[in-house]
Amino acid sequence: MTTVNLSDTWEKYKGFKIKECHTGSVLVFKDTNLEIYGAGKNRSPDIIPSDVIVDLADNYGKAIECHGIFKELEKYSTRKMIKISWPDMSVPRMHPKFWAEFAEMIRAHTKPLSLVFICNGGHGRTGTALCIIGCLLGLIPEDVCPVEYVRGIYCDQIVETDSQIKYIKNVTGREVTATKREYYRVGSIPFHGI
Ligand SMILES: [Zn+2]
Repeated sequence: MTTVNLSDTWEKYKGFKIKECHTGSVLVFKDTNLEIYGAGKNRSPDIIPSDVIVDLADNYGKAIECHGIFKELEKYSTRKMIKISWPDMSVPRMHPKFWAEFAEMIRAHTKPLSLVFICNGGHGRTGTALCIIGCLLGLIPEDVCPVEYVRGIYCDQIVETDSQIKYIKNVTGREVTATKREYYRVGSIPFHGI
């Protein structure tokens, strides 16, 4: 039988920062006829106000697979889901053209529209997506770092990996001066053998 000394485990990980942060669905961008929210499945998200749920973490079984070809967004009537395959702590395979088309469809929408981007913690994948879509829709000023900008509005823990920062740069063509956040997550402390 394996025994684990919990105090040793906590000692090992005490250097990691654990920080409480946002809960619920946070309104990040608001423009004429448009509201964009960010959320995390583990942070009491409220998806009620959204017409379109952009599922970045396979949270919902029934979803519309996106392969880069969009029809009119109106087709996604109230409470539709768009699923983007996106591994945790990583980036999706979506080419920049995908995001350009997505932004174009949002921009072309004539009726009031609200979207919620949602992953698990609401930081890495959701934060990256918010930075990208905010830049492409012109909702983040040109002269600011998009990551810092979204951190200021939504949650200061967004964007968790160097690959996500690089992806934001590649897709948007914008300068990113912020660095990744490395808060250790309580749920992933490895209590092996218990
Ligand atoms: Zn947060």
